[in-house]
Amino acid sequence: MQLAEFKNEALSDFKGNRQLFRLMQEAVAQVGTELGREYDLVIGGERLKTSGKFSSINPSQKDQVVGVFSKGNAELADRAIQTAERAFKGWARTPVEQRVQLLLRTAEILRRRQYTYAAWMVYEAGKTWPEADADIAEAIDFAEFYAREMVRLGGRQPLPPVPGEKNYLQYLPLGVGVVIPPWNFPLAILAGMTLASIVAGNTVVLKPSSDAPTIAHKFFEVLEEAGMPPGVVNFLPGPGSEVGDVLVEHPRTRYIAFTGSKEVGLRINELAAKTAPGQIWVKRVIVEMGGKDAIIVDSEADLDRAVEGVAVSAFGYQGQKCSACSRAIVLEPVYEAFLEKLKQRVEQIKVGPATEPEPYMGPVINARSHQSILEYIQIGRQEGRLITGGREIPGPGFFIQPTVIADVPPRARLAQEEVFGPVLAVIKAGSFEEAIEIGNNTEYGLTGSVYTQNAQKIAKAAEDFFVGNLYFNRKCTGALVGGHPFGGFNMSGTDSKAGGHDYLLLFTQAKAVAERIDF
Ligand code: NAP
Repeated sequence: MQLAEFKNEALSDFKGNRQLFRLMQEAVAQVGTELGREYDLVIGGERLKTSGKFSSINPSQKDQVVGVFSKGNAELADRAIQTAERAFKGWARTPVEQRVQLLLRTAEILRRRQYTYAAWMVYEAGKTWPEADADIAEAIDFAEFYAREMVRLGGRQPLPPVPGEKNYLQYLPLGVGVVIPPWNFPLAILAGMTLASIVAGNTVVLKPSSDAPTIAHKFFEVLEEAGMPPGVVNFLPGPGSEVGDVLVEHPRTRYIAFTGSKEVGLRINELAAKTAPGQIWVKRVIVEMGGKDAIIVDSEADLDRAVEGVAVSAFGYQGQKCSACSRAIVLEPVYEAFLEKLKQRVEQIKVGPATEPEPYMGPVINARSHQSILEYIQIGRQEGRLITGGREIPGPGFFIQPTVIADVPPRARLAQEEVFGPVLAVIKAGSFEEAIEIGNNTEYGLTGSVYTQNAQKIAKAAEDFFVGNLYFNRKCTGALVGGHPFGGFNMSGTDSKAGGHDYLLLFTQAKAVAERIDF
């Protein structure tokens, strides 16, 4: 099977292209008429309702319900795993070409619904138009990229010859995977972990985030339309705290693919390590967790570019990306000049409902997050000097001003803990070496960036800055599938490098076969 070379999906320029602007505007209006519907659980292709319900809401307008869902429970979690296990028998032996075709059709359908699905993310996750557009582009990229990866890994892999033997290696699927995504890339990350699972021949119980189940259901519908057999992916919404443990501890669960917070990721890792009665394998755990990402601004940096890079990395999607810049570490000679320029730049950021085209920043995801971010701002005010922002914005949604707090000591809470909101700590460094030391001095190690025009400093940071995704003279967000395999060190996770050549291997096990032929 031969596929054209992988290319990233182009992003939509809503500002420069009136036609695309209108398409998105129409999609937002249309989806606005479809809010509040009820969606079922799906196990083995069968639609199911339960008496317990929960709703997702529009964080730009918190009294607006986006979708209503039946809550999964322990019994249905068990049934979903058993159903996925039955489906595994057939799916694991389905020719690789058919599994690859499923992904390609999925990409095609997603492309046709690009703006509609982007609009669902606008409503359910509070993504601004360009952020929602980038999310669906990434989901399409994952489908196209993992399809090609499976073509590469499918079939017999040659091994160095052994005299008198015929030998090869073959990648086999693992079994039933539990896929648990976060809300912040409600389509891309969910699609990435699910598609990697099934293209490799595994079957899945998908437990979406309770903050973004509608877009998850929409994705599930695409899989069905693309021809996925019943039971290959089973859709089980419900509170992580209620169904999560059952799925993770189940003896027939073969692996867990999780992206989310450190607390939940570590809990999953711990529970999965215990062997349940009847379990005959060591569960594999792929956990991608939080970050406390830093941008170092050197005294030899182009300061305007650095300010721009820090501003978009810190405040794009309201700072709710695992890759978001939450620490700017700035060299002393340019520290005050940087702060002055940054203040001016940040004060131009428009905050408002994500349904509108203009705002650069929408709302934060929910009431709990809103509260926790405001508490961190209070902590930050005590630990440092407020430069701009610092307040909630009254209105129908969870809006918070983009906030910059300077003079934060490197070991302060605001410099160490993941806030996951529009709050940037600025830290002063006396030397480039010290800046890297501060950069490395958290329990995380996800993304980092350095602005400098000095080649020696670039070489030093390339060696010493300990993060999974390191950038120079550009923002620390916006990893592209293929070009920027993504995943972090230390408490940022298991460094799975999503969207890279190593990723699908995590969803497979290799069988080495050798046959004596010299008699
Ligand atoms: P979260 O609270 O950990 O939730 C993630 C998922 O885990 C949700 O589906 C959640 O379901 C589920 N969950 C909650 N408790 C569970 C349990 N006991 N057992 C099993 N599953 C459980 O994280 P989030 O707020 O959605 O996402 C934000 C976090 O994700 C941040 O820390 C961010 O840095 C991280 N993140 C990391 C990456 C990366 O690639 N490293 C990418 C994106 C985000 P419910 O919604 O039902 O609680």
